[in-house]
Amino acid sequence: MRDDATETLLTAARPLIDLALAEDIGRGDATSRAALDPKLEMCGRVVAKAPGVVAGLPVAEDVFLSVDPTVCFKPQVSDGQEVTPGELLALVTGPAASLLAAERTALNFLQRMSGIATLTRRFVDAVSTTGATILDTRKTVPGHRALDKYAVRMGGGHNHRHSLFDMALIKDNHVDAAGGIRPAVARVRERYPRLPVEVEVRDLAELGQALAVEPPLDRILLDNMDLATMRRAVAQAAGRVPLEASGGVTLAGVAEIAATGVDLISVGALTHSPPALDISMKVSHLHEPEPSETHRARVGRAKARLGDRLIILGHHYQRDEVIQFADLRGDSLQLARDAARAEAEFIVFCGVHFMAEVAAILTRPGQHVLIPDPTAGCYLADTATLEAVEAAWERLAVVTGDADATYTPVTYVNSSAALKAFCGRHGGVVCTSGNAPQVLRWALDRRPRLFFFPDQHLGRNTAHAMGFSAEQMLLWSVARPPDPDRIRAADIILWRGACNVHQRFRPADVGRVRQQHPGIRVIVHPECPRGVVELADDVGSTAHIINRIAAAEPGARWAVGTESRLVHRLQDQHPEQRIISLAAVPPFCATMGQITLQNLAFLLDRLLVGELVNEVRVEAETARWARLALDRMLALA
Ligand code: SF4
Repeated sequence: MRDDATETLLTAARPLIDLALAEDIGRGDATSRAALDPKLEMCGRVVAKAPGVVAGLPVAEDVFLSVDPTVCFKPQVSDGQEVTPGELLALVTGPAASLLAAERTALNFLQRMSGIATLTRRFVDAVSTTGATILDTRKTVPGHRALDKYAVRMGGGHNHRHSLFDMALIKDNHVDAAGGIRPAVARVRERYPRLPVEVEVRDLAELGQALAVEPPLDRILLDNMDLATMRRAVAQAAGRVPLEASGGVTLAGVAEIAATGVDLISVGALTHSPPALDISMKVSHLHEPEPSETHRARVGRAKARLGDRLIILGHHYQRDEVIQFADLRGDSLQLARDAARAEAEFIVFCGVHFMAEVAAILTRPGQHVLIPDPTAGCYLADTATLEAVEAAWERLAVVTGDADATYTPVTYVNSSAALKAFCGRHGGVVCTSGNAPQVLRWALDRRPRLFFFPDQHLGRNTAHAMGFSAEQMLLWSVARPPDPDRIRAADIILWRGACNVHQRFRPADVGRVRQQHPGIRVIVHPECPRGVVELADDVGSTAHIINRIAAAEPGARWAVGTESRLVHRLQDQHPEQRIISLAAVPPFCATMGQITLQNLAFLLDRLLVGELVNEVRVEAETARWARLALDRMLALA
């Protein structure tokens, strides 16, 4: 059954689909009519040829059904999901002539909408360690506004006003004509008392006038201001009215704008100039076996032949077709324990690179850790490099006299081996989301203060649960390290890192699901922002979320704030309960998705002929110190 958002999208899309099909097919597809047997049925594979975010699958389906209602369209991913080159997006079966007649129009919609979603996701990721929200504008293709704005939401952005009627935006021309900001606002409010009102300001003097308006405005737009003026504007507004930055925002510059502290950034480029995502459709005869069947058979054969010499470890965020082959599945903590206990000669790690590194550090000589895609990294782990952490440590040493006597460094397991080794060398420790409270208590028993990296949210949420206040914590900025007084005043230093999956959940999501599903329980991962955790009914690691749902009574309803493959799997495993994603656009981890049945089958094929593909090794000295930090953690668990 289609949800309301999809129905709204299709209502807007149908006249455009009719127009596009009339334009493309007209009196009929001459080539297919002449060349194809009308009884011939085929299967089309819609495949991504570039990395990106998918949007518009329901529109593509509607195109095929408009051409021929007997066609069967089966999406293999969801709108909003990040995909990799070669990934299957949908299977379409039906009369070959119908598939080929609809193909171009369906792909045109899908490619443009996915292009918008992909570009939006890049902007969203660029500001994800700040509190800024990315907004679209009205710079949409005429007639396509609902589709363009839907695609922005699928990319993780938010919609600005839809049209001129649903929000008043008082610009400089309105202000000049009305004789000032105050009279312009008064006139709008008198005529449309319920309409949200935003005012555009050109300088700080106008900002002062806009801030003086009572009752306060809904939003103030800073038009084309430079970064220094924006920073002053943020200080002047002091959170009284949300500030929106606008004007010539580029991907290269958006992070600097977000770092000024503005609340919203509107980006015209999202919809006026998105590059289309490269997507194609290949058709084949229905009786040809699906490639995935072959891959499944290859993985099964390798497992049977290698027997006890092989163990496959799979993280909960892996794809279904991959995780089904995992001998052991778990979250980071469980998989670290499993790796340490494993006896097999070959450990194939279906997860991201830092997890395979942990396995390589914990295993014994003669064991080999392999990963199907060595480029499957972690956005969060990449927010902290050894160089940047060492520079921060040096500054802490200068300010306090002796960093090693003052701070226990704690790294979340989602970090490089080099950072784990840093912790090992400096008397520190590793933690996971499952044991963070225990580890932080241990760290604070040893030294008075804590330096926590790279996930600010896990650090903040755990410290709050332990009784620390926001004033006792300090967010470290690599670009602008805090001044000595603020460092001396803080008990806990938090790195400014965040997971780009869990960062997407917003407090507004909690309000929305509670309104749409009264009585639903909200359970979230501690990598979610503080505002989300505060509103949730329950917070805990991936294992905690799984266990809570497994123990719940039939009929229980959950909105879950974590990676969406796991959320979908939980719903499949517990059909007696209702389990949905907390976000309107369920977020998927793109790098976890880089492990596919194809690259797993390839790795195992090579293993069968004695070739070690993508072995993960950690340099001996780094491994020695990292192991020390990991062992300190495992001894606590
Ligand atoms: S879900 Fe977040 S923390 Fe986990 S691997 Fe993906 S990016 Fe990294």
